[in-house]
Amino acid sequence: MIPYSTQDITAHEIAAVQEVLGSGWLTQGPMVPRFEERVAELHQVPHAVAVANATAGLHLGCLALGVGAGSRVWTSPISYVASANCAHYCGAELDFVDIDPATACLSTAALADKLELARRYGTLPNVVIPVDFAGQSADLPGMRELADRYGFALLEDASHAVGARLQGHPVGSRHADLAVLSFHPVKIITTGEGGMVLARDERLVQQLRLLRSHGITREPALMQSVSPGEWYYEQVALGFNYRMTDLQAALGCAQLDRLPGFLAARQRLATRYDRLLAGLPLQALTRLSDRQSSLHLYAVRLAPQIDRAAVFARMRAAGIGVQVHYIPIHLQPYWHARGFAPGDFPQAEAWYRSALSLPLFPAMSEAQQDEVVDTLQTALR
Ligand SMILES: *Cc1c(COP(=O)(O)O)cnc(C)c1O
Repeated sequence: MIPYSTQDITAHEIAAVQEVLGSGWLTQGPMVPRFEERVAELHQVPHAVAVANATAGLHLGCLALGVGAGSRVWTSPISYVASANCAHYCGAELDFVDIDPATACLSTAALADKLELARRYGTLPNVVIPVDFAGQSADLPGMRELADRYGFALLEDASHAVGARLQGHPVGSRHADLAVLSFHPVKIITTGEGGMVLARDERLVQQLRLLRSHGITREPALMQSVSPGEWYYEQVALGFNYRMTDLQAALGCAQLDRLPGFLAARQRLATRYDRLLAGLPLQALTRLSDRQSSLHLYAVRLAPQIDRAAVFARMRAAGIGVQVHYIPIHLQPYWHARGFAPGDFPQAEAWYRSALSLPLFPAMSEAQQDEVVDTLQTALR
């Protein structure tokens, strides 16, 4: 099976992890801060906080931004369920904003309309979570303007967008209050499981670091009492164990060394897909000229007359690991039971009916790509 995405691990990564195994520090050692510094430098943010996975990062991001019972959080229905669940972990009320069909990212126009209504009803959101779908930045500049006008925070789910750029700057560096990256094996770089929260505000970073490790601090400035000795720590909030290990951070550093090659390979293969697929009854996502996608996914929309389920089944039977990103979150039974229904977000539902993600990963050969395209051509007939 040619997978839709997969990790790329070489002797370089194996050596890096092996070194940590013999170092005496499996977790809470020097590799996590080193990985944090490198990701902060890559994305040009003052701070990066490593976490156990992006889901944990989104949860901590919500908490640091003050989300709690009675808060309102909005996100895109075309995302992984984690983008919505993080708000519900905190007891917030969740809602969705429909997508822009060209990019499958949360639509700024739909957001503006919904905000205007919410202002009249007194139901403005506290936090909006845009998703950089397939590795292309959502319209963060437009959303920043709305955030400033209506007074909500932006928590960017940049899980797909490690190394991506918007208007010449790295994703997460200029518009969002916090941005979250994922290092799951199918994403751009991997740490097995892992995530990172990018932050510009010192106060938010303090909250994230505190909540990542049980709400415990050893920093005198955060304690209520004067420390009686070096054993002493205080739990000043209810936190979690959302830490990343040094093994993971070492793997992440080694993967970062190879990131330019990963991004170039994805770019080369995506451009080749564009050429090979021209003339078929499908449409690739619009790639906007002011952003550089990390190309986590090569997602296409099949023409309306095509039976997507049949094409999907034929591809899978031929050993091509196509996938569908995503089933709209509001149609999941959990969210359906909380008041959402088919028809609520028509663009998201239309995207879902025709979406297909084709295999794309750095080590994919042109022969494999030709096989994908040939099989798709046959399946579409
Ligand atoms: C993968 C993903 C997540 C969750 O990432 P984990 O690291 O697996 O927790 C969240 N949001 C989006 C958009 C994702 O693709």
